[in-house]
Amino acid sequence: MADNKAFISVDLEGLPHVVSRAHLYQDKPLWSEARKIATTIVAEVSKALLENGYNEVVIADSHGDMVNIDPFELPSGTILVRGYPRIRSMISGAEGSSVALFIGYHAGFGTRLATFDHTYSGSSIQRVEINGTTCSEFLINMLALSEAKIPVIMVAGDAALENEVRKFAPWATFLPLKRSLSRYSSVSSSMHELLGSLRKATLESIESAKRGEPRLVSVEKPVNLRVTFLSTGYADVAEYLPWAKRIDGLTVEISVENVMGALSVLELLAMASAGLRTLTT
Ligand SMILES: [Zn+2]
Repeated sequence: MADNKAFISVDLEGLPHVVSRAHLYQDKPLWSEARKIATTIVAEVSKALLENGYNEVVIADSHGDMVNIDPFELPSGTILVRGYPRIRSMISGAEGSSVALFIGYHAGFGTRLATFDHTYSGSSIQRVEINGTTCSEFLINMLALSEAKIPVIMVAGDAALENEVRKFAPWATFLPLKRSLSRYSSVSSSMHELLGSLRKATLESIESAKRGEPRLVSVEKPVNLRVTFLSTGYADVAEYLPWAKRIDGLTVEISVENVMGALSVLELLAMASAGLRTLTT
């Protein structure tokens, strides 16, 4: 059992040079490029962690089917969490870690000039609120990890996410990997340059963790989870949960014990929506 474990959650949409739908799915022509970008970046960050005090790095592959990262290219000392569905979704395998890093993260649904802006499920969910605060994936995952006593020390992804990170996790190192020109276009430096910046940012965040700067953020319990769907059909199905309250055509509200529980309910609702889609399209 490693005594100083770091956790990395990796998404694709906030990674540099990932701009096309052809990058996002395994059966598409640019997926192998996106996979290479994800693997190269996560390997570099892992090495920086392993060379600077962490003896194990758990990597949660967290996009789509969650089998994007190539295990042959990862340094020893890393452990890879793969596959979907899984109850803790993007933060599976984090338990017991001292710190968490989010890589390739993107802005939430409805954000202007943000590549593939969405929140958990681009095909079914419009908005997720925890106790009235609209959350991106970054924020929900950070709050859930806080309950597990794991502070987020670094976020690297779309520059459109920066304000939210500065607001809710001002201690965290934020590294922009791309500046989006639209939902399907962005500008990034060369991979070579970015890898240097990633190493530097990782070292900065490690130093900050050593100084005890990272914080845990707690919210009022029980948690009020409010989900606004893209279709009334998804809200109809969400209402099958007897403790769900229908707010309007698209919105349900559910009281959940804590954010980790809210994350599981959110996953369940996304799965139910996907199920409904297969039955109705
Ligand atoms: Zn994704």
